[in-house]
Amino acid sequence: MSNTLTATTLAARPVFEGKLLIDGLWLEAADGNKLERKSPAHDQLVAVYAQAGVADAERAIAAARRAFDQGAWPRMRGADRARVLRKAADLILERKHAIAEMETLESGKPLAQALAEIEGSADLWQYAATLARNLHGDSYNTLGENTLGVVLRDPIGVVSVITPWNFPFLIVSQKLPFALAAGCTAVVKPSEFTSGTTVMLGQILIDAGVPAGAVNILVGLGNVVGDVMVSHPDVDMISFTGSTAVGKAAVAKSAATLKKVSMELGGKNPQIVFADCDWDAAVDAAVYGIYFNAGQCCNSGSRILVQESIAERFAAAVVERSRHVRVGDPLVAGMQVGAITTEKQFRTILNHIDAARAAGATVALGGSQIAGTGMYIEPTVVTGVKPDMAIAREEVFGPVLAMLTFKDMDEAVALANGTLYGLSAAVWSQDFTTCLTAARRIRAGTIWVNTFLEGHAELPFGGYRESGIGRELGRFATEDYTETKTLQMHLGARTDWYVPR
Ligand code: NAD
Repeated sequence: MSNTLTATTLAARPVFEGKLLIDGLWLEAADGNKLERKSPAHDQLVAVYAQAGVADAERAIAAARRAFDQGAWPRMRGADRARVLRKAADLILERKHAIAEMETLESGKPLAQALAEIEGSADLWQYAATLARNLHGDSYNTLGENTLGVVLRDPIGVVSVITPWNFPFLIVSQKLPFALAAGCTAVVKPSEFTSGTTVMLGQILIDAGVPAGAVNILVGLGNVVGDVMVSHPDVDMISFTGSTAVGKAAVAKSAATLKKVSMELGGKNPQIVFADCDWDAAVDAAVYGIYFNAGQCCNSGSRILVQESIAERFAAAVVERSRHVRVGDPLVAGMQVGAITTEKQFRTILNHIDAARAAGATVALGGSQIAGTGMYIEPTVVTGVKPDMAIAREEVFGPVLAMLTFKDMDEAVALANGTLYGLSAAVWSQDFTTCLTAARRIRAGTIWVNTFLEGHAELPFGGYRESGIGRELGRFATEDYTETKTLQMHLGARTDWYVPR
C-alpha cells in the first residue's frame, strides 16, 4: 500500500505501464509510440504509456460510435446503469490508496490531498448513479383534447472527454459518470502529464461492468489525439476542461461539425475582503485559496481585493501566515503544498513574478524557486498591484497571490468583474447585506460567502464569460449530455388541410 512510499523507496517502485483502452481491450499504439512521465517532485521516471496517434483516436471513436449506435449501454434501464456506476464508486474506494499514490507521483500534490480527491471522486460516481434513475423529460396534457405532447431526453451520443493535469481523477469524475448516466458513450483523453489515474479508472470501469467500447481511453498529445477528438464527425459532444486558449481553439475546430460543447476553462478569481470580515477566517482563506494545489486550480483565489482601511494590516497577516505554509516532498506526511506539475508551468509562474516586479508591484514574500530536486516555488505574495497589471488580470496558475485594494462596494464589484473571466469569487463580511449585495452583482458561476473552495456534488459548477460554457454537477448535470426530442401525438380524426373546391 502507498503509505510507506517515500522519496527514497520510490526508486525501487515498479514503473507504471499503461496501455490504450479501445473497444474493451488494452492495446499498444498502432505505431508503437511510447510516452514517459517523471515525477515533478522527485525527477524520477514513474510511468510509461502507449502513446496514441491519429489512427488510435479514430479506432477509439469508431468503437464508441458502435457502442452507442448498436450497443447495450444506451438501451439499458437507468437502474442498471446506476448499478454499474455505484459499483465503479465502490471499486474506486477499494483502490483509493493506489490511485492516490499514482496521482501524487504524476502531479506532485501531497498524498493526503490526493487521497481526499479520490474519495471525493467516488462520491461523484455515487451521485451520478442517482441521476441515472432520475433523468426524465416532460409532458403536456394542456394542448387540447386531440393532442398530447411528450418531451424526451435522449443521450446525445459519443462524447469526447478531455481533461487537464491539475485534478486528473476529480475532473474526469465530474464528467464521465454523468455522461454515462445519461446513456452516452465516451472517448477520454487525460492530460499527457497525468494519465495514470485515468488508465486505472479504465480497469475499474471494465471490472464494474461497463460494456466494451462504451468508454475508451487514449493517452496522447492534445494537438494530435485531442485534435481528432474535437473535429471528428462521429463525435457528438465535447466535454473539455483546460486553458481558455485551448478551449477556444477546440470550440472553433468543433464548429465545422457543429458539436455541442461543455467548456470549463480558466479563472482569475477574487476574494473580496471587507473591513468587517471575520479576520482570522479571511486571512486563512486567503492563504488556503492561493496555495492549495500550489495555486494550480481554475478556482484559485488568485486576487485578494481588500478594503483600504484594513489593507496594510491584512497584507501583513497574509504574509506572516504564508511564511509557515509547508512546501516540499508530497510523499512526506503533513506537507501542505507539493511540486509544480509541469516544467512549462514552472517557467510560466516565475515569468509572471518577474513581470509583476517589472510592472512596479512589490514581491512582499517569496518569488523564487526552492533549491534542490523537484520543481517547487515559494509561497509568493505580491502587493501594490494595480488593476491594469498582468498579475491582476492573467491566470498565473501558481502559488502567487496578487493583492489589490478598494474603497467601497462599487469599486470592489467593478474590480471583481474587471477581467475576462467569471469562474468564482468569495465575499468576506459579517454583514448580511454586504455579502448578498456583492454576491448578486459579481458575474461568476460560484460565489462563496464567508468560505472558499468548498464543493458539493449537488451544486452546479462552471463559469461566466471566458471561464466557460455550461455547468457540471448538480441535479441537471446529466441533462447536459442529452438531446431534447419533442413527440407530438394526435388523437382522433385530423382536420384535412386539402379541401376539395
Ligand atoms: P490545456 O488547455 O493545456 O490542456 C487541457 C487538455 O487539452 C489536455 O488534455 C491537453 O492535452 C488537451 N489539448 C491540448 N491541445 C489540444 C488541442 N489542440 N485540441 C484538443 N485538446 C488539446 O490545460 P492544462 O495546462 O492541462 O490545464 C490548466 C488549465 O486548465 C488552466 O487554465 C486552468 O484554469 C484550467 N482548468 C479549468 C478548470 C475548470 O473547471 N474551469 C479546472 C481545472 C483546470
